[in-house]
Amino acid sequence: MLGLGAICLAGLPIARAQSGTILLSELPPPPVAIAELLKQADIRFCYGWQEKPSSMTMPSGRRLDALTVYKMKYDFRTQNRLQRRGSRQQMVTTIRLGRTGLTCGHVVWFRDLPNRETFWTNWLVLHELDHVRISSDPRHEKQFRKRLSENAVLVQQSGGSVSTFNGQSQQSAKGRVEAVFREITTLVDIRYKELDRLTDHGLRALPKDTTLDAILNGSP
Ligand SMILES: [Zn+2]
Repeated sequence: MLGLGAICLAGLPIARAQSGTILLSELPPPPVAIAELLKQADIRFCYGWQEKPSSMTMPSGRRLDALTVYKMKYDFRTQNRLQRRGSRQQMVTTIRLGRTGLTCGHVVWFRDLPNRETFWTNWLVLHELDHVRISSDPRHEKQFRKRLSENAVLVQQSGGSVSTFNGQSQQSAKGRVEAVFREITTLVDIRYKELDRLTDHGLRALPKDTTLDAILNGSP
């Protein structure tokens, strides 16, 4: 660990000069299919040691040349309705996704700056964009919405104030949204791993009988 720290420090001034953001305006126009993806997905391209995403993990013994890190966020709203059931009261909470819904940002990192002229045909770039296709698939938001609308949260209470009641139902709703959110991110993580397994982290093309759509559909 100490040795690694020393290497990092010694390499810092040079590394800083070799790190940065790759702006779309510096690149040639992308092919139509990639232009569509860039429109729908929030992506920041960067390179170099200084820009390395903190969540990056190195498979042992392998030099990782590129990595895509996605960050999903959600925004939700609740609506409470108080019902009486004999002597007991029941709070029915309906959960909906908020206006921004489920959003996903990406950092696509390269160890070395890819050649700008051949950027859109570079196999490493194309592999990372396949990762972006997986996490920015609009079906994730649809699924998230559907799962949230399937069940209302019910909190039962025989006494207590309405504000305690509201607090409890908000807490239960939050727990439910987080559980559904975890289902979605778990699915994305599985598909990221599947893509890397089938292509050996982009070193080879997908097998002939597999497509990215098949991975997205969960049936590679
Ligand atoms: Zn990969």
